[in-house]
Amino acid sequence: MNVCTTFEDARGRVSGRVGLVPTMGYLHEGHLRLVETAAGENDATIVTVFVNPMQFDDDTDLDGYPRDLERDLGLAARAGADVVVAPSVTYVYPEDHRTTVTVAGVTDAMEGHHRPGHFAGVATVVAKLFAGLRPDTAYFGRKDAQQLAVIAAMARDLSFPVDVKGVPVVREVDGLALSSRNVRLSPDARRAASTLSAGLMAAADLIEDGSSDVAAILAAARSPMEADPLVRIDYVELADARSASPTRTLGGKQFIAVAAVVDGVRLIDSLTILDGDVDRGEVLPSSSILYGGT
Ligand code: AMP
Repeated sequence: MNVCTTFEDARGRVSGRVGLVPTMGYLHEGHLRLVETAAGENDATIVTVFVNPMQFDDDTDLDGYPRDLERDLGLAARAGADVVVAPSVTYVYPEDHRTTVTVAGVTDAMEGHHRPGHFAGVATVVAKLFAGLRPDTAYFGRKDAQQLAVIAAMARDLSFPVDVKGVPVVREVDGLALSSRNVRLSPDARRAASTLSAGLMAAADLIEDGSSDVAAILAAARSPMEADPLVRIDYVELADARSASPTRTLGGKQFIAVAAVVDGVRLIDSLTILDGDVDRGEVLPSSSILYGGT
């Protein structure tokens, strides 16, 4: 596997159909599933590891973001990556960088509302990755369902010839979606964090039982979080998968997204719904190699 610090170097090392997996590193099984999927569908797979300062609205969150490039390289290689690109901040944003990509509408609600500027940071860095690395297909997790909608809209609007694909959420045994931020949870907060997915699974049960009562479905999604004193809900919404507009009617391709702060750590999770079929994600049988240091 090749390790590069520039887009040019990385692009020069691959040929044929190229899959791209953008990450902020500190890889876990959720990231690795994206890499495995990309490796299975392409001639070459590029993984980027870049903690993008432009998408952080909170300096403490940025400074405290976990990093371990050496470990990431081993995990990425094992999952089938051909190239890892780990560029510096000054390479991605030289002093005279002046362009910001903003995607209107699809960024209005949910994460866009609660984290002003966040999606401009995401869209800008991903546009740079698409331009610099020219992938045929790029892979993103459905955990970040609104982010997937934002990237797909950005790629269409800017005519990037890239297919943007969503990959199911990878979960721990109790349902908690894997996230690099989970390592910051205290044991009590870790228990409380499972209320996000518990609510989503209760909502999934109602949908699969044929309910179209969106108020009841969203109430079921909120309920476990509301019952836990360590959890402060930011939002629980049903939204159209393409426009990311919140809706009160079930139908077509949609997602239920939740965001909550659990004892100081902000977590998000999503459930993707297609015409009454729910993608609950994949539950891992064991938690042996999930996070850094293990
Ligand atoms: P991050 O490093 O957190 O920016 O995530 C990089 C990519 O991995 C994004 O497309 C995320 O949606 C995806 N991802 C993160 N956690 C998971 C998970 N538990 N399951 C599936 N995809 C994930």
